[in-house]
Amino acid sequence: MKESKYIWKNGNFINWQDATTHVLTHALHYGTGVFEGIRAYQTPQGPAIFKAQEHYKRLHDSAKIYGMTLTYSVDELIDVTKELLTKNELSSGYIRPLAYYGYKVMGLNPRPNPIDTIIAAWEWGTYLGDEGIEKGIRCKMSSWTRLDSRIMPPLAKATANYANSALAKMEALDCGYDEAILLNSNGTIAEGPGENIFVIVGNTIYTPPASDCALMGITAKSAATIAEDLGYKVVYKSLIRDELFLADELFFTGTAAEITPIREIDGRQIGNGKRGPVTEAIQTTFFKAVKGELSQYKNWLTYCK
Ligand code: PMP
Repeated sequence: MKESKYIWKNGNFINWQDATTHVLTHALHYGTGVFEGIRAYQTPQGPAIFKAQEHYKRLHDSAKIYGMTLTYSVDELIDVTKELLTKNELSSGYIRPLAYYGYKVMGLNPRPNPIDTIIAAWEWGTYLGDEGIEKGIRCKMSSWTRLDSRIMPPLAKATANYANSALAKMEALDCGYDEAILLNSNGTIAEGPGENIFVIVGNTIYTPPASDCALMGITAKSAATIAEDLGYKVVYKSLIRDELFLADELFFTGTAAEITPIREIDGRQIGNGKRGPVTEAIQTTFFKAVKGELSQYKNWLTYCK
C-alpha cells in the first residue's frame, strides 16, 4: 500500500508509522468498531470528497446500531478529512475513517474502553482492476451466507461484519474467481463482500432492498440516480440466483469497486460476456460526476478548499 505522511487520531495528525495501537485493544479481539470507505477524486478544483456527508452520516448510523456514541460530529469529521487530504498532498485517494473501542479493560462489554477515532487517506487505484472496470469480472456464488440481522446487523458498517466478507472473498479467490456474490439466509441475493449488485433486464434495473441484508451503498444510490436520470427504471426487489444468470447485464457498485461489470458467474456467461451498454452508460456518467464534470451532480462533491 502506498503510505501517506499523516494519519489523524483522536484530534491530532501523527506520522503514518506512529499510528499504532496496543495489542490488547478491545476491537482487535472482538471486532468492536465501525468504519467507512470514502473516495476523493481529482477535479480541476483540487481533490473532491465523494458524498462526504452521506458517508459520515452512515458512520454515525453504524455506531447507533452498535450502541456506540461517537466523539466527533459529521461536520467535524468532514473538516478533518479535508485537512488530511491537504496535508498528505493527495489529489485523489481512498479515505478510511474508523472508530473503535480501544485499550483499557478486557472482557466482552466494550463500553468501559475509550473510543479511539482515526482517519487515514492514501493513494489507491481501482479495487477490482482497470481491466475489470472495462471488461467485467468473474464471480462465484459464495458458500458463505451474508449475515442477517438476527446474527449481526447488516446495515452497520462494523468491523466484525467483515469476517463474513473476508471468508467469501478468500473462497472466491481460492476458486479462481475475482469476487463473490452472497445469498442471505432467505436464499435470495444479498450482495458482494464489499459491493452492491444491480441486475439489468431490458430497461429495468433491479437491486436487493435493505431487508435482503445488503448494506445501503452510497455508490448504489448514486448509480440508481444516474440510471433514472438516463431514463431507466430502478426497482428494489428480492432476486433469486437464476435471475442473475438470465440478466442482460450485471454490475457491482461500491466505493472501492466503483462501478464494475460482472461478465460471468460460476462458469455461466452473463449477457454477451462483456460490459453491456447500460452499464457503460451509467459508468461513464458516474466517472464524469465524481470528477466534477457534470453540474447536475455537483452537490455530491466536497472540495478541500
Ligand atoms: N456492501 C458492503 C458489504 C460493503 O462493504 C460496501 C462498501 N462500503 C458496499 C456494499 C458498497 O457501499 P458503498 O457504495 O457505500 O461503498
